[in-house]
Amino acid sequence: MMSVDSGAAVLETEGNNPKAADKKKTKFDVIIIGAGPSGYTAGIYCSRAGYDTLILSGVLPGGQLVNTTEVENFPGFENGIMGPDLMIDMRKQSQRMGTTIVDDEVVDVDFRRKPLKVLTASEEYEGRAVIIATGANPRKIGLEGEETFGGKGVSYCATCDGPFFRNQDIVVVGGGDSAIEEASFLTKFASKVHLVHRRAELRASKVMQERALNNSKIEFHWDSAVVDIKGEQKVTQAVLKNIKTNEETSLDIGGLFVAIGHVPNTKIFKNQIDLDDEGYIVLKNKTHTNVDGVFAAGDVHDRNYRQAITAAAFGCMAAIDVDKYIAESSDSQ
Ligand code: NAP
Repeated sequence: MMSVDSGAAVLETEGNNPKAADKKKTKFDVIIIGAGPSGYTAGIYCSRAGYDTLILSGVLPGGQLVNTTEVENFPGFENGIMGPDLMIDMRKQSQRMGTTIVDDEVVDVDFRRKPLKVLTASEEYEGRAVIIATGANPRKIGLEGEETFGGKGVSYCATCDGPFFRNQDIVVVGGGDSAIEEASFLTKFASKVHLVHRRAELRASKVMQERALNNSKIEFHWDSAVVDIKGEQKVTQAVLKNIKTNEETSLDIGGLFVAIGHVPNTKIFKNQIDLDDEGYIVLKNKTHTNVDGVFAAGDVHDRNYRQAITAAAFGCMAAIDVDKYIAESSDSQ
């Protein structure tokens, strides 16, 4: 979908989007970086409020939902919807409201002066306000099987995919709050949950640990790592290695959930806005970053909820805050 013309990004004209016909336009009211549920929702709200809005989507638009299959928990779809279809519909809805979308990657930003600058490899864009909606990616173990069986038994979200694994044995990798929460949640569906952790002590909070340790459906594999994921059409086996003894064992499973943390996509903002020690954007007030006119929405600042619906809600909130910010800064001019 990326359109390239003599090395410069060309704005798309798809959809009922008269503003998008203005090719190579580089000045906007609002620039949204990222095209997951938060970015597209922010686009819908900003454009609908009358702001000339650009989404720079990256080269693989759609965010994490593009890598999922069926989404059963996004309200409004009685029979569920496929993740990629949901993202295509959000994109089209944003375009219908007038959002310009360019499928290009942001390589740098300059938030030190106004107008705010957002740069791709071939273009320099200017905005009165910027919404960062670049999301986060689940940290991966680094096994080939994670790629081979992604969406075919390997998952990074128990809330999203747990119900697909009824009456099957499942592996959960990790020892933090996410892994324990996911393992406990998955016992509602799975016949057994094998929790594989690289140490003999959990990182998760005491109360969550106790709940999991008392859950008879969870079996703990301490000092252990998953070293191979096997299967044909989908996952059927995980190979575990005890790190201390080097002993290997195989588990017959229907699914494997990786819950070893997330990595927020904030590298390009490092010296421009406040990030915490794990790279998440620190918000000053609701959706405001420490830089005037720069807002954030979704998994790029939210390490707790990480759902499509909460990301969309944060996108809406950021757009409403941008509306207020632009109105107030226009008043003071
Ligand atoms: P986390 O706290 O960073 O825990 C990550 C876990 O994965 C750790 O046990 C770590 O092992 C393990 N790990 C990291 N890299 C690994 C690798 N390459 N291979 C195998 N294991 C690896 O991440 P999280 O659990 O996603 O939680 C993130 C934050 O969200 C935390 O602040 C957490 O408290 C919060 N959270 C809260 C809730 C809740 O309160 N309901 C729910 C979820 C998350 P080590 O322990 O050996 O480092």
